[in-house]
Amino acid sequence: MQATDIRSAASATAGARPDSLAWVERLVRFDTTSRASNLGMVETMRDALLPHGVQPTLTYDAARGKANLFVTLAAADGNAQGGLVLSGHTDVVPVDGQDWTSDPFRPEIRDGLLYGRGACDMKGFIGCVLTALPAFAAARLREPVHFAFSYDEEVGCLGAPVMLADLAARGVRPSGCIIGEPTDMRVITAHKGINVYKCCVRGRAAHSSLTPQGVNAIEYAARLICFLRDLADEMRAQGPFDRAFDVPFTTAQTSMIKGGNAVNTVPAECDVLFEYRNLPGVDPAAIDARIRAYVDGELVPRMRREHPDAAVDLSRLAAVPSLDASEQAAVTALVRALARDDMVRKVGYATEGGQFALAGIPAVICGPGSIEQAHKADEFVSLVQLGECDVFLGRLVRSLSGEGGVVSSC
Ligand SMILES: [Zn+2]
Repeated sequence: MQATDIRSAASATAGARPDSLAWVERLVRFDTTSRASNLGMVETMRDALLPHGVQPTLTYDAARGKANLFVTLAAADGNAQGGLVLSGHTDVVPVDGQDWTSDPFRPEIRDGLLYGRGACDMKGFIGCVLTALPAFAAARLREPVHFAFSYDEEVGCLGAPVMLADLAARGVRPSGCIIGEPTDMRVITAHKGINVYKCCVRGRAAHSSLTPQGVNAIEYAARLICFLRDLADEMRAQGPFDRAFDVPFTTAQTSMIKGGNAVNTVPAECDVLFEYRNLPGVDPAAIDARIRAYVDGELVPRMRREHPDAAVDLSRLAAVPSLDASEQAAVTALVRALARDDMVRKVGYATEGGQFALAGIPAVICGPGSIEQAHKADEFVSLVQLGECDVFLGRLVRSLSGEGGVVSSC
């Protein structure tokens, strides 16, 4: 289908194209909760790509139960270098314990809203991209377009680095990336980094009448938690600040704790999970160093004065880099023009955009649906938002094929 058809189909229904809707519904039916395999969904997408004469590349996790899919639609002259990546993650967050009105993996349309797990985060975007595939394939592209669909984004952006390493190894160097996370089709150019830690405090058990013989793991974990809170308060008071963010400073917090097994026993173990979210420009390594200096320099020596076997095991579970796209980057200008949006917006949630940027591929975020609905019961994407995404992709096809007046160049 040609770009003009995309436009007219979307405006005629004042909502999503019927074929976009069909794709999104098809994708929602795959339960791709991060703990499950995504291969059914990935192979379905691969099979839709193959008739267009392209060669999708699958890169797998260690257990080969999950895969990233990357594919290049070369330019009309055969060039496959440079070009724009359309990026989405295939996995979704769990529905456990959530109160859904309808089956989260059986999409339902009610009052112009498509309900289902992943509807906005981010199978809506992926469905629209796949719908635009024939238009991209038929267009005389001046530069290539790449689709990048990853696994395990929701559990720490674990899949994208595998895909990016494969691109680097194969010498594939796109020059810009659109992350289709839900932004109501507005342009977001920056997000914070996320760093997640687990800290296992190992003390020594004793009968609670004999506290001097034990090392109380919970009490020492509490000292770490207070240290983290003091660190968070310091960053809140002293900055640095970026007022374009809702929360304009780097945040830190303890989010889970587990320890002890009886009220009359000195607890030998306490596990703590915490995270911090750094502003772009704040070095997460410097925060990491301060926490480790406290643990190694104060906490552990103090515990070992009580018993030499006491220990603290601190490990970083996930680290997602921040994103801070330049307004001068070609992809920023292109997406602002396509979305008709010049406003500066920065957000506290992270995406794979920071990883693309770190790999030398400038990225911005723009996709259908709202982050307000992501991860919740009764997640939905509106048909109007899907329609806007269809229109956006139609403009992109025309832009990349030299029509439509928007300068591309990514
Ligand atoms: Zn997402």
